[in-house]
Amino acid sequence: MKKSAADILEDLRGHVDFLIESGAGFVLRSPVNESGGAPSRPASAPPRRAPAREPASASLASLAGLPAQTAAERKALEEIDRQVLVCKLCPLHRLRTHAVPGEGNRSAELMFIGEAPGRDEDAQGRPFVGRAGQLLRKIIAAMTFREDEVYITNIVKCRPPDNRVPHREEEEACSPYLVRQIELIRPRAIVTLGKTPTDYFVPGPEGMTARRGHFGDYRAIPVMPTFHPSYLVRNEGNRELKRMVWEDMQKVMALLGRK
Ligand code: URA
Ligand code: SF4
Repeated sequence: MKKSAADILEDLRGHVDFLIESGAGFVLRSPVNESGGAPSRPASAPPRRAPAREPASASLASLAGLPAQTAAERKALEEIDRQVLVCKLCPLHRLRTHAVPGEGNRSAELMFIGEAPGRDEDAQGRPFVGRAGQLLRKIIAAMTFREDEVYITNIVKCRPPDNRVPHREEEEACSPYLVRQIELIRPRAIVTLGKTPTDYFVPGPEGMTARRGHFGDYRAIPVMPTFHPSYLVRNEGNRELKRMVWEDMQKVMALLGRK
């Protein structure tokens, strides 16, 4: 699809906005990963301890190298959206205004996975539309992706009260929807935003500061953990955090041949 001049301008605006905010306006290449491949941990990093929890993919098949998505699979994705909208599998359904299945390109090469809808998302039925969402959308534009080229969703599809972290049982009830979405979309890379989705896909005992920036894998799909945009919003003056997120996103761009 050819981009209109207005679309290109919009992309560029988001790109520049985020780069200025991150203080990284001139850093257009990752200093760490010049080769373009998935980086390994530096030799000086301490060895990883055993994961706190089995990876979500422990007994599931690889999703890499599967044939292109079929029409039936596209239909199945629409069906998941319909099921989520009326789902009552966990108590969060009682408090919701709207369940939020996710949005974007159903054959996206890149998926962003957050924690759960917040107030704005619950009100609108769309993921990442509040302040954190606006920042995420700027990051996506800075990565030279259009919003309709990527897929954005959450591990839990209904808003937890007062935006608390979802309980383990809620995550377990809801995550099969996400697992199925990933199987059907088959992205070439996943970005997990913050600790909750990172713990699910690439569990480990370390905090986000240690885990961000290092590709893990979920069923042979590279997974890049990074800070949640709401953490950046809460620490607005901290350019270092934005710079780190941008560094992480540059690794994803390199992997996808976007830079
Ligand atoms: N935070 C999330 O994790 N997801 C959203 O959709 C919005 C805010
Ligand atoms: Fe269903 Fe997930 Fe909503 Fe719980 S959070 S009711 S499992 S869609």
